[in-house]
Amino acid sequence: CGIFAYLNYNVNRERRYILQVLFNGLRRLEYRGYDSAGISIDDSPPPPSLSSAAPSASSNDPPPPLVFRQEGNIESLVKSVYQDVAVTELNLEESFSDHAGIAHTRWATHGEPAPRNSHPQTSGDGNEFLVVHNGVITNYEVLKETLVRHGFTFESETDTEVIPKLAKFVFDKANEEGDRAVTFTQVVVEVMRHLEGAYALIFKSRHYPNELIACKRGSPLLLGVKDLNEDTNSGSALHDSKFLSKNGHPRELFLSSDGSAIVEHTKKVLVIEDGEVVHLKDGSVSILKFDNAKGRPSNALARPAS
Ligand code: GLU
Repeated sequence: CGIFAYLNYNVNRERRYILQVLFNGLRRLEYRGYDSAGISIDDSPPPPSLSSAAPSASSNDPPPPLVFRQEGNIESLVKSVYQDVAVTELNLEESFSDHAGIAHTRWATHGEPAPRNSHPQTSGDGNEFLVVHNGVITNYEVLKETLVRHGFTFESETDTEVIPKLAKFVFDKANEEGDRAVTFTQVVVEVMRHLEGAYALIFKSRHYPNELIACKRGSPLLLGVKDLNEDTNSGSALHDSKFLSKNGHPRELFLSSDGSAIVEHTKKVLVIEDGEVVHLKDGSVSILKFDNAKGRPSNALARPAS
């Protein structure tokens, strides 16, 4: 029922801080009502050489992202994460100069409230693709049947689970065909081609560390940009040029289904439109318009602020 993401680029943030931003984002979405919540963060920072390497399903991949999911309110999720800290010795002081975290509050439409049905939903072992979803995928049953025939096993009763599994299917297929340079955007656009229904989605992937993709059709989604060490956050309208990070300037990016979770961080907020695919990478934002009628992306554009 609410989605939120926080990406820090070229600025050191401790795990403790990243968790705080994600939990506070969820608290802002709380009023919408929900029955479960979850987050995904990174295990440890990927070595610098990896973050720019071409993605491939190899042993060079960073460790699987961590997923925490809990039935009930945000505070029970917070509690379970910190309990896990005690169990796994998750280091709260560990610092990430680049990191992408995603979070979700769920209002169950398919599958009872339970940890396995909470989001992020995953592509399976290894958490190669993780998705938080608002809305309903109306053709999930036929997608699920197809994926099962291709050897996927499902853990949840949600409509959402087909999405990360479809992403893995697309990614693996591209790799098998030798396209090791397939981009995160290409994977998601291919996934979107198969989805019917209403959605706002945020994707995180083990294969694309520190990147996020968001897209929507029928459910709300907003982007917030906060440039650090600059005085450009005072509510000036977003323009194309400001989307692009200049010379690796430190930046924080936010995605949310509700503006209230973003405006406490920055007033540079852009409303994402139906069919747009937003890619966050290396501090820059690119937006592609997905033309559903043609079933393929049309011209890439960085849309000026309205
Ligand atoms: N349809 C999805 C589910 O039941 C998402 C529900 C939501 O928007 O929170 O898991």
